[in-house]
Amino acid sequence: MKLLVVGGAGYIGSHTVRQLRAAGHEVVVLDNLTGGHAQALPADVACVRGDLLDAEAVRTVLEAHRPDAIIHFAALIEVGESMGAPGRYYCNNVVGSLNLLDAIVQTRVVPLVFSSTAAVYGTTDNVPIPEDAPLHPESVYGETKLMTERMIQAFHAAHALPFVVLRYFNVCGAAPGGEIGEDHTNKTHLIELACLTALGQREKMMIFGDDYPTPDGTCIRDYVHVQDLADAHVLAVEALERGQMSAATYNVGLGHGFSVREVLGAVDAVIAEEGLPPLPREIAPRRAGDPPRLVADARRIVEDLGFQPQFTDLKEIVRTAWEWHRSHPHGFEG
Ligand code: UDP
Repeated sequence: MKLLVVGGAGYIGSHTVRQLRAAGHEVVVLDNLTGGHAQALPADVACVRGDLLDAEAVRTVLEAHRPDAIIHFAALIEVGESMGAPGRYYCNNVVGSLNLLDAIVQTRVVPLVFSSTAAVYGTTDNVPIPEDAPLHPESVYGETKLMTERMIQAFHAAHALPFVVLRYFNVCGAAPGGEIGEDHTNKTHLIELACLTALGQREKMMIFGDDYPTPDGTCIRDYVHVQDLADAHVLAVEALERGQMSAATYNVGLGHGFSVREVLGAVDAVIAEEGLPPLPREIAPRRAGDPPRLVADARRIVEDLGFQPQFTDLKEIVRTAWEWHRSHPHGFEG
């Protein structure tokens, strides 16, 4: 198939481009390169620099490349930032997605895979979280993703747009080999920060709360490896192409969680193999908005799409992240 990957130069997008190509698909990327990195893409993948807020440009790309399906990653993704800059988030994530949907309808209706998030659920006691759990996002970021999900459903109803929505849990790791990985301007993710601390770029790790109602007192999250997540996109787009379904929403996670302490323990074990000492760490206050436990009920994607995560061992997951950060201590630009 020929795929247009919108936001394909970002962390998850670039790993998905690799997996799409490994599965034999042709790829064109549309990215504004504000958060993404052209270096994250194979040299022979066409990368059109353009912004979803430029409706005319989006339509032109669709007309020029006539993809068989579209995967849409492009978004601002920081929960904290979204609370301070709601206008920017609603405009970029919702208006940008609306422009893409309009352009699809104006040119040729082809299947769409959309990058959503577990943040659409908000805090819930219903763990593991099934896809039909109540949707109560607690951040502007989560709200923009839910609004986009709803727009996609409306376009499905009105224009027979086939779609799969993937709701990601905690995405982490890097493609084995250390060529591409996570490189955000603002670093907030646990495993990335732990690797940068091991490299001496941060003084110590802060554990945000050790008094949660969990076995070791720290928060539990469902860490899904970015390459497995990328494979989920390949499965979704191929299932849409086959006509296996025309409207589906899936959680993407492992279905079990690890605590902050367990993650830091795995990082300690990986860096110890190189003779590095355990990460200095300190207990800090809880971070606002962190629920104690977020774990996916991931059965639906396993049953429907045959999703089989390859990275289920926490130390293996961490090792791929470490390989990337150690070989690119300053990310793509370094
Ligand atoms: N966390 C932490 N220290 C850090 C960064 C994160 O204790 O420096 C915790 C955070 O409170 C959460 C978990 O690690 O419980 C995962 O956080 P992350 O930001 O990686 O992902 P999120 O769950 O917010 O999407």
